[in-house]
Amino acid sequence: MNFAKELALFSAMAEKKGMVSSLEGNLSCIDRATGNIYITPSHKSKLLLQPDQICVVNPAGEQIGGSEKKSSEYFLHEAAYKARADIGAVVHCHVPYLSAYAFAYRDFETRADTFLHQIFGTVKCLPYGDHGTHAIHQGIEEALRGRPVALLGGHGVVCVGADLEDALGLIEAAENYAKTVFIKDRL
Ligand SMILES: [Zn+2]
Repeated sequence: MNFAKELALFSAMAEKKGMVSSLEGNLSCIDRATGNIYITPSHKSKLLLQPDQICVVNPAGEQIGGSEKKSSEYFLHEAAYKARADIGAVVHCHVPYLSAYAFAYRDFETRADTFLHQIFGTVKCLPYGDHGTHAIHQGIEEALRGRPVALLGGHGVVCVGADLEDALGLIEAAENYAKTVFIKDRL
C-alpha cells in the first residue's frame, strides 16, 4: 500500500466534508511492518496535499520523509497507536457537536441508539492537556479501550480505525449522532 498517497486522498476527503482545514485537525496512518507513522503536515490545506508533502516519522520520533513540518499533534497520534495495537489510522478534528461535549468536559452517551451504542459505548472525555504536548493524551489508553472515539477536554476529538476509511466513517457517524441527539433534546 502507498501510505502517503492514501493519506493525501483521505485528508482531502475529510476537508471536503468540512471536518478538517489547513488550520484544524490532522490525520495519520501507520505502516505496522516498519512502525513508521504517516501524518499530515502543519498549516497546509488538506484538500491540496500531495503525497510527497506527507510527513513520515520513524518509531524513534524522527521525521524521515515529507517536504513539510509534521503536525504539532504528532504525540497524540503516536499515543493512540501505542494504546491500540490493532488500529491502522487516527483522525483528530474539532467537529462541533462532539467538541461541544469536550468543551463541557462531559462524556458522551450513545445509549439512545442501540446500534451505535455497540460501536461507540460511552465516549470518554480526557482531561485538558496543552496542544502539542504529551499532556494532551493522558488517559487515552483507558478511553480507547474497546471504543474508537475519545474526547480531548477543552479541545476536540480523536478517532481510531482499522484504516483511514474506517476511522473517517466512524468519526462522521459519531458526529452525526451527537448532532441528532442535540436536535432530539430540543423537540
Ligand atoms: Zn486539535
